[in-house]
Amino acid sequence: MYCPVCMSVNTGKIGSDTYYCSDCLLEFACNGNEITIYYIDPEGVSYALKDRGEAKKLVDSIRQGDELLLQETLQELTGKC
Ligand SMILES: [Zn+2]
Repeated sequence: MYCPVCMSVNTGKIGSDTYYCSDCLLEFACNGNEITIYYIDPEGVSYALKDRGEAKKLVDSIRQGDELLLQETLQELTGKC
C-alpha cells in the first residue's frame, strides 16, 4: 500500500481499512475507490482532509516544523479555530 499523499511505502495497517504513513504522519482510510485522509493532532483530534492537495499542504507545514504555520494551515483547511 502506497501512501496516497507522498507515495511512500512506509505505511502500516492500523485498522480494517485504515493505514498510517510514517513519513507524512497521516492516516488514510480506503473505502472502495475512495480514500479519506486524516491528520491526527497531538491531542488526538482528527481532521478529515478534503483531498490530496490539502493533505500535501498540511504535510509540508508539518515538515517545516513550524507549529504556528501548522495551526494556520489546519484552520484554513478545516475552518475551525
Ligand atoms: Zn505519506
